[in-house]
Amino acid sequence: MATDTTTAKPVLGVYQHGSAYMVGDGFPVRNLFPSNDLDRAVDPFLMLDYAGPQYFPPTEHPRGVGEHPHRGFETVTIVYEGRVAHRDSAGNAGVIGPGDVQWMTAASGIVHEEFHEREFARKGGVLHAIQLWVNLPKASKMTAPGYQTILNGDIPAIELDGGAGRLRVIAGSYQGRKGPARTFTPVELYDLHVKAGRRVTLTLPDGQNTSVFVLQGRAAVNGSRQAGEAELILCKRNGSQVVIEAGEDSLLLVMSGDPIEEPIARYGPFVMNTKAELIEAVQDYQAGKMGHLS
Ligand code: MN
Repeated sequence: MATDTTTAKPVLGVYQHGSAYMVGDGFPVRNLFPSNDLDRAVDPFLMLDYAGPQYFPPTEHPRGVGEHPHRGFETVTIVYEGRVAHRDSAGNAGVIGPGDVQWMTAASGIVHEEFHEREFARKGGVLHAIQLWVNLPKASKMTAPGYQTILNGDIPAIELDGGAGRLRVIAGSYQGRKGPARTFTPVELYDLHVKAGRRVTLTLPDGQNTSVFVLQGRAAVNGSRQAGEAELILCKRNGSQVVIEAGEDSLLLVMSGDPIEEPIARYGPFVMNTKAELIEAVQDYQAGKMGHLS
């Protein structure tokens, strides 16, 4: 056993999805958090929605979710199959496909829409995606909105030792290779494939909240039980070593970040620090201060 138990991050638990719902009419998702009541343990991450592979028949009317606001955090959309189009009130627009990531900073507030891309909708096909919300520290919640389209080709892909699999660095770094996403607080985000029967050892910053989400396959982390499709393995903050063992060919998302440790107040698409700030967010949205889609 190569695991150094003195630095291995202890496993807090393995979690199944909570609520399952349709976002708009285009994104059938299973929610891992907040529905497992893990706010402190996943901080700085706020929400994880998994849109597992689902076939959509051809249509001239792209499915998705129409104009809606966000304030106080970032939405990160990762597409595995299909194509998703985004448009927002800050004038940003983009289409992402397999391997691409959209990193949208709502900060002081935007209004946006998220739909299946028109040509993808017309042909029909499988959509497979994740949306992850990343919190902003209080000092950055009311800063200007931003938008990063991160294409597959921009994301370093590293072949793991001994042909164990492949790791793509979306944010943070792995073995000196930096991911393209700009973040407000230290965040590591990896798209990871591990082959059946193989083991991968990651070294992540001590003190970060770290979790591994299983999209497909079966995998264990630091001696946990094997987690299957749509299960989340969550580690405690202390320690730095994360040993992932794949029981089957596995598609995983590794999320790790410095906890922000500020009060969290939520109301739908708004995540602030206090109830008063949520009321202000609703009023500002209703007054049109977050803009409109042209
Ligand atoms: Mn949205």
